[in-house]
Amino acid sequence: MVVVMRTAASDGDIDRVVDAVTNVGGECFVSRGRHQTIIGLVGDLTQFAELPLHAFPNVEDVIRVSRAFKLVSNDAQPRPSTVEVAGRAVGRDTVTLLAGPCAVETPEQTRRACEMAKEAGASILRGGAYKPRTSPYAFQGLGESGLEILQEVSRDLDLPFVTEVVTPADVETVARRADMLQVGTRNMQNFQLLKEVGLAGKPVLLKRGMTATIEEWVMAAEYIAHTGNLDIVLCERGVRTFEPMTRNTLDVSAVPVVQSLTHLPVIIDPSHSGGRRDLVLPLIRSAIAVGADGVIVDVHPDPEHALVDGPQALVREDMPALRDTLTRFTAAVGRTVESDGVATDRAGRSPGWGLGA
Ligand code: PEP
Ligand code: MN
Repeated sequence: MVVVMRTAASDGDIDRVVDAVTNVGGECFVSRGRHQTIIGLVGDLTQFAELPLHAFPNVEDVIRVSRAFKLVSNDAQPRPSTVEVAGRAVGRDTVTLLAGPCAVETPEQTRRACEMAKEAGASILRGGAYKPRTSPYAFQGLGESGLEILQEVSRDLDLPFVTEVVTPADVETVARRADMLQVGTRNMQNFQLLKEVGLAGKPVLLKRGMTATIEEWVMAAEYIAHTGNLDIVLCERGVRTFEPMTRNTLDVSAVPVVQSLTHLPVIIDPSHSGGRRDLVLPLIRSAIAVGADGVIVDVHPDPEHALVDGPQALVREDMPALRDTLTRFTAAVGRTVESDGVATDRAGRSPGWGLGA
C-alpha cells in the first residue's frame, strides 16, 4: 500500500502518517521526489485499512499496489515524473541530450568532447572517471582526478554532468563532485551499490543490466527509491542477444513497457547498444519516435586514439547532424528539446542549423 502526499504536504503531515502506521505495527518508507512524496507501507494491510489515512491532512491518495515494485510504480503516481539534474530536466515534456566522452582520458580530450556535446545541444554532460572494464588490463579510468577534470569542464561550459560510480566505497567521493550518479549495466543488481547511491542525495541514472528483464531493472530502481530517493532516470542500453553485428540489441519496446509500469523517465543509449558510429543517429531517431525522454551519446574529438569505445563515438563532423536529428524528431513527437541555452523556435529549429541539412 502507498500513501501519496499532496505537493503542499509538510514534514509534520508526513510524520503524522508515519506515526499512525508505526503505531499499528507497520513500517514506512518515505520517498521524496522533486514534486511529490510517496510513503510505502509494509506490514499487515488489514490493520492499515482501519486507519482513516484518506482523511489525514495533505494526503492525496491511498492506493493498494499489487505489483512487486511500489514506489516507482505508476499505480502510486500516475503522473510521469520529471527528474531535475542541477536545473536541467529529464521528463515527459522534453527530450534531453546527454553527451560527452565515454571515458575521461585527458583534460584536453574531455574539454573538446564536452564542447562538441554542447554544440550539438546537450544539456547534461557525460564522462566516466571510474570505468568498469571487462579486462583487468584495460584502462580503468582516472578516478578522482577524472572527476576534477569533469567538474572544471562542467563549470566552464555551465552544464551539469553525470558520471558512473562502480563501488559503494566511491559513492561519497563521486557524489561530492557529480550532479548525477550513473549505475552501469554491470552493476544493475549490485544491491549494496544501489542503496549507497540512493542515499547520496543526487539524481541517479540507472542503466539496464545487459541480461536483465524489465521487471528486474524496475526492481533495481525500487531499491534506490526505497532509500528515499525518487530522482531516478532509467536507461535502456541494449541487451545481449545472439546477434554479433551489433554490440548489443537495442530493446526499443522497453521504453513504452517501462512507461506503462512506472512514472520514472526513461532514456536510450544508442552508443553502447549499437557499438557502431553509423548506428547512433538511426537509433536516436528510433528512441525519440518510440517516446524516450532523452538519449545519452558518446562523442570523442579523436576516436582513433580513444582509450575506450572509440568505434561508437560520434566525431566533431557529426555534431550538426546530431543536433538536427534531435531538433527535428523532437518537434515531430510534439516535445521540445531540453534547452542548452540556445534558443529554439516553436518548430524546434535552432539558429544556425538548417532543417534541410
Ligand atoms: C558507460 O556509459 O560508460 C557504460 C560503461 O555503459 P554501460 O554500463 O551501459 O556499458
Ligand atoms: Mn563506453
